Amino acid sequence: MRVTITKAAKLKPQPDDSGLGFGSIFTDHMFNMDYNPEKGWHNPRIEPYASIEMDPATMVLHYGQAIFEGLKAFRTDSGNIYLFRPKDNFKRFNRSAHALCIPEFDEDFVLDALKQLLIIEKDWIPKASGTSLYIRPTIIAMDPFLGVRASHTYRFFIILSPVGAYYPEGFNPVKIWATKKHVRAVRGGLGEAKTSGNYAASLYAGEEAHKHGYTQVLWLDGIHRQYIEEVGSMNIFFVINDEIITPMLNGSILPGITRNSVIALAKMWNLKVSERQISIDEVINTHSSGKLQEIFGSGTAAVISPVGELKYGDKVITINNGKVGPMANKFFNAITDIQYGKTEDTMEWIEPVSEI
Ligand SMILES: *Cc1c(COP(=O)(O)O)cnc(C)c1O
Repeated sequence: MRVTITKAAKLKPQPDDSGLGFGSIFTDHMFNMDYNPEKGWHNPRIEPYASIEMDPATMVLHYGQAIFEGLKAFRTDSGNIYLFRPKDNFKRFNRSAHALCIPEFDEDFVLDALKQLLIIEKDWIPKASGTSLYIRPTIIAMDPFLGVRASHTYRFFIILSPVGAYYPEGFNPVKIWATKKHVRAVRGGLGEAKTSGNYAASLYAGEEAHKHGYTQVLWLDGIHRQYIEEVGSMNIFFVINDEIITPMLNGSILPGITRNSVIALAKMWNLKVSERQISIDEVINTHSSGKLQEIFGSGTAAVISPVGELKYGDKVITINNGKVGPMANKFFNAITDIQYGKTEDTMEWIEPVSEI
């Protein structure tokens, strides 16, 4: 298969690097590819960014058979374009596809198509410190049909969005809210797939958290409503008594690539790191005994998100005096230095994108 390229006749004006937010500006071109049972994945093409016309009965609109990924392209000081662990994103994308009965795709082919798209859109990769080009691969069910079954046809697309620094005013701790009332996912469900429905399931609790003055929900497991799973749409880490702890992957937790990177770096630095069950009671108790040193989230958008305050029931605890802790700082700097080519990539996480 070869990617057909159609260039946009008219290019959009590009935004100023300094005023970038998240996810509302899109580049001139996108990647598209279709699936049907006769041809498999076919007609891969890079073409002008455009709306997708669909029948009102299109299955994705009714039954939510949709998966996505999120990764970033970075501009280094020397002008190179770097992707961070993109093969891991496409591997996870195929695992999500499998979980939602969506046909799998050729990962090497799609990575190559993404690189071609990035070269065409290279002027859209912002240069200011902390900025990047966010990449959103998506697959949606396209059959116009109201019966409940897996679709027979699909659309695969990749869109690109220049995004600003996540911490324009400096690295800032957030306040999180733990609740027994809502759950994001349960074991045996779709928690470990990156699928739209998990986000729909998280909105109500997110709004409740906001009403209480908190930015993210700390999700507890669906069965005991006791064991910690994730925070907002990030994985979570605790530093207790110099041990770095993150909930083990149990089927309802999304296996984050940033999570995996934090664990790998901790092991390389010979720090004590454990993937295990951790309950909200353990967190509250270790705080009371003075052993809870840090809490932070991990994910592509923020990389590391330090937590300064946690509310659970009528208890409110302050972590590390509401300040960014040394571990959160260390992981944030190590990962972003690799992403922006400021340090040697000894882990082989960088995939350079170069003009052919
Ligand atoms: C994407 C995502 C994460 C973070 O994964 P990264 O690969 O680190 O970006 C964590 N939790 C949920 C629910 C997610 O959707």
